Amino acid sequence: SSNRELIDQLNTDHQLAHEQWVQLISSFDQDDQTYATEMAHQLAVAKYGKNIFFRGIIEYTNYCRNDCKYCGIRRSNHQVQRYRLTKEDILSCCADGYASGFRTFVLQGGEDIFFTTDMFTDIIATIRQQYPDCAITLSIGEGSREAYQQYFDAGANRFLLRHETASAALYRRWHPAYQKFEHRMECLRELKEIGYQTGCGFMVGAPFQTADVLAEDMEYVTAFKPQMLGIGPFIPHSQTPFRDFSPGNEELTLFILSLCRILQPDVLLPATTALGTVQGNGRQLGVLAGCNVVMPNLSPLRVRKQYLLYDNKAGIRDDAASGIKKLTEQMNQIGYKVVSSRGDYQPNTGKK
Ligand code: SAM
Repeated sequence: SSNRELIDQLNTDHQLAHEQWVQLISSFDQDDQTYATEMAHQLAVAKYGKNIFFRGIIEYTNYCRNDCKYCGIRRSNHQVQRYRLTKEDILSCCADGYASGFRTFVLQGGEDIFFTTDMFTDIIATIRQQYPDCAITLSIGEGSREAYQQYFDAGANRFLLRHETASAALYRRWHPAYQKFEHRMECLRELKEIGYQTGCGFMVGAPFQTADVLAEDMEYVTAFKPQMLGIGPFIPHSQTPFRDFSPGNEELTLFILSLCRILQPDVLLPATTALGTVQGNGRQLGVLAGCNVVMPNLSPLRVRKQYLLYDNKAGIRDDAASGIKKLTEQMNQIGYKVVSSRGDYQPNTGKK
């Protein structure tokens, strides 16, 4: 089949065979890309209108017990100045965010064992109590089922845990032996079982990643059916073992985002900060390729340059208000409106 036929097939069947994914990902040309972009954009507009959900990210700690070879805040990077926000700091980020219209707060951090399960539960419960109309999303890495359940019971609604790669062999090249692929995958299953709106995801163009591996990622997404999907280009960080690798290709990232929208038309799909970092208008291009979520940074300005997962991260010099303003303008420029509803996942029902 031609690539166009494969894109049509994806649109009707919502799945492809492994070899078909490999073909599409490794041989698409400009015309195929345009075709997928337009289809994905139309699907997103049909489902969500020209509306973008904003989620406020609060990067509450850059301490991390893990040592992912691609990540700037890995534990072996001793050049990072470490910080953690207090409960009061976090609540004041929420207050500012709420005043700016945010109804989803994303707590993201390294895996910081300073925050015990009970401490973190207390933070979630307090946000839940103060902001009953807001969604709370966690992006805090791997944990026990009991901890995940406790956070859910305290009021957390959503959880982002990128699977990073669906290839166990590649996962082992990217992480030290104590970080287990099987455990990360188990966490994803547990999160969904507990009842979180769950997001998986991966980087595009990361070291040693092939079309074959990306095809496995697409198959994993097909089987897992996440409510959210976090995908952005790999960008090297100069203080990591992967410093000398090239960044992920922007066109390929956008193409994959479009394929994800076509695969799962109702998925919540952010145009990521990494996409906005490889190119100034990357997040606009992401929205035009099918994304419907943008995640502005609500972290205090003083800690932003310490939460660097990769080099040249977009927005580290803007305070929350000016970052939000810039992103709002970017969305308005392409004819989109930022909406301040919680923006929960709304599955398509009654329709294949
Ligand atoms: N520690 C939590 C976890 O593991 O899910 C959340 C924070 S972690 C830093 C968030 C995401 O950043 C990771 O899932 C990874 O995909 C992404 N990331 C890390 N280093 C990156 C890099 N060099 N380029 C692009 N994305 C990166």
